[in-house]
Amino acid sequence: SIEMQGLHKRFGRDTVALDGVDLDIRAGEFFTLLGPSGCGKTTLLRILAGLEEPDAGSLVVGGKNITETPPHQRSVNTVFQSYALFPHLSVRENLAFGLKMRGMPAAERHTKVDEIADFIKLGDLVDRHVDQLSGGQRQRIALARALICEPDVLLLDEPLSALDAGLRSQLQVELLRVQKRLGMTFVFVTHDQQEAMVMSDRIAVLNGGTIQQVGAPREVYERPVNAFVARFMGHDN
Ligand code: ATP
Repeated sequence: SIEMQGLHKRFGRDTVALDGVDLDIRAGEFFTLLGPSGCGKTTLLRILAGLEEPDAGSLVVGGKNITETPPHQRSVNTVFQSYALFPHLSVRENLAFGLKMRGMPAAERHTKVDEIADFIKLGDLVDRHVDQLSGGQRQRIALARALICEPDVLLLDEPLSALDAGLRSQLQVELLRVQKRLGMTFVFVTHDQQEAMVMSDRIAVLNGGTIQQVGAPREVYERPVNAFVARFMGHDN
């Protein structure tokens, strides 16, 4: 599980990105951070990844306080937007990159890449170059690259937002399949309440750097605790 307590983050003098966030995410759940632009979703994710340091508060993952642990020593990985792939390398080379950094021998890397390619059903995409792939194909490669290191927790910051509606719902199904099959904890960021409703075990609604409500999708939708949540979840008043 992931336990966040009293997380504060300020940028410069005036921007309060997180204003005291307490949140428990259970092991193996698909957890969504939902809220409007600027509410602090990405900042929270970057703190989980270790890419940003909180001004105050603590972060415990799997019983271990990792507030000060550097990113590469956390059992947490991030699906970056697909433009973070190396365009001049093949898909296979992209997937193997992190494994190579960890010193895994070539033969073992090859096997690992084949396993993940099979799991995500990449087929003959593995031997193509990234710059020959469509947006949706690149996003699947980005997912495969994050999964290949077998993290306990996967962080996903609007991974589907650049895709058209058809591809988007196809990849929603695929993400859910992967998450359930691997029993991994997913922390998913979106500003799209529909997407949050269909994907999540639980949702946290954020506004202005604070958590407004945490609960199962239906609970948040049917019993919003305040006017902000009601409006954001699509109620008229
Ligand atoms: P979006 O959906 O638009 O990505 P968000 O909910 O992810 O928004 P954050 O990116 O976490 O929001 O930003 C929260 C607040 O902190 C915003 O007011 C933003 O302008 C500010 N902020 C975020 N990162 C920085 C930074 N590096 N420097 C200065 N201000 C920042």
